Amino acid sequence: MGKKAGESMPGCIFFNRAAGSTTAKVLAAVVAIAAAWPALQISIPATRYFSLSLRAEAAPVASEATEFPTANAVRIERTGDRTKLIFGLSTSVESTTFVLADPDRVIVDLPQTDFLLDPESGKPAHGPHRKTGLIAAFRFGQLAPGKSRIVIDLRAPARVLRAACEKSDGDGHTSLVIELAKTDRADFRAAVQIARMQLGALAQTKKDEKPQPASVKPVVMIDPGHGGIDRGAMVKGLVEKDLVFDFAKAVAAKLETDGRFKVIMTRDGDSFVTLSERVRMARDGNAALFVSIHADTLSDASDVSGATVYTVSDRASDAEAARVAQKENQADAAAGLDKTEDASDVSDILFDLTRRETRAYSHFFAHTLTNYWRVAGRLNKNPQRSAGFRVLKAPDVPSVLLELGYLSNKTDGQALSSEQWRDKASSQVAEAIEAFFSARESATTVIKTDPDQVPVGKIPTGGE
Ligand SMILES: [Zn+2]
Repeated sequence: MGKKAGESMPGCIFFNRAAGSTTAKVLAAVVAIAAAWPALQISIPATRYFSLSLRAEAAPVASEATEFPTANAVRIERTGDRTKLIFGLSTSVESTTFVLADPDRVIVDLPQTDFLLDPESGKPAHGPHRKTGLIAAFRFGQLAPGKSRIVIDLRAPARVLRAACEKSDGDGHTSLVIELAKTDRADFRAAVQIARMQLGALAQTKKDEKPQPASVKPVVMIDPGHGGIDRGAMVKGLVEKDLVFDFAKAVAAKLETDGRFKVIMTRDGDSFVTLSERVRMARDGNAALFVSIHADTLSDASDVSGATVYTVSDRASDAEAARVAQKENQADAAAGLDKTEDASDVSDILFDLTRRETRAYSHFFAHTLTNYWRVAGRLNKNPQRSAGFRVLKAPDVPSVLLELGYLSNKTDGQALSSEQWRDKASSQVAEAIEAFFSARESATTVIKTDPDQVPVGKIPTGGE
């Protein structure tokens, strides 16, 4: 709950763990793992990188003295079915290697290493890719303080034959050699399953180790949209930032009465908060649930009405969801800020496992909230949708965005400005949150054992 992304990252997994130049250990581990692979038949989408190639021979950009090991060169070598990615290092380092699917990747974790390389050396480029074999692209850089990572995008399922440091006989230079061989989909998938189980176990151990004061309550973060210079939607005197603030305050007050939660609001008055700051607050505050509150408007469809619950997704569920996300994502621009860099690409790569689990929870809460909402309020004809909302992108905090209704619709507008309606509807939101945590507590065993197997159906729910 409320874990930091770094904690779910592999720190000392024994899968393909390589110490310095002891490749024999790695090979033994690979053999042992290969023997343990069950013959799984799971189909996943084919790799997206068919037509890509990359610039393999990169020149070092600079060589500065640092306290960390440095990588000064990188190249790809291909022989037959095998592809090697070789980094020239200043010294031997320990590495931990595992594979991930969707998309297919090889991940190599290292102690903090300074990559004195052109950051684009692993970038895919157009052209023939015979030279780069199984490797479609690769990236490298710092993952967290003290920790660096190499991520290899695969062109086809691959098995890691070795990932270890070697000293060349001739010049005594040290190289980190990551050697990949082609494998079939079932074998690859099985390796992914093993890695996920180990990652999950590791994340759990770290969670258990975390000292938890007895009085710690789950943190619920309520996020009233917009604020300050960013007013949000405005229709005939109804101002989104004010309506959603009043609503958020009502929900927070009800949750506080319950006593089970620590409730935090992303703004406690009419102040501007960037979208990324809201996400950061949720993560830093170890929020177990993040609920963003908004109200919509449609200039040319005053008959459209009702509440909608949104979750984040890479692809919008429909055109309307895409429109709403696009509009809500403009919040920072509305306040005159320069376009903020979206860190979601980094998240996609680094927090894959956590994010998967988080999205399952977000989806489950969206479903719960929809069911509770219908008791007190009107729902849009398609009340559960998804799109790329920036404010919902914390990879480790289940997050939903509730559009209370349409200011452009007369009935919704009246409801939203009525204190009586607000009282009833905010009670339903508070109850949905309580129900979510009750269900979550009873579902922890399932979630602990296999983060990849957390379909909504495993959590008590009305179904999808
Ligand atoms: Zn809004």
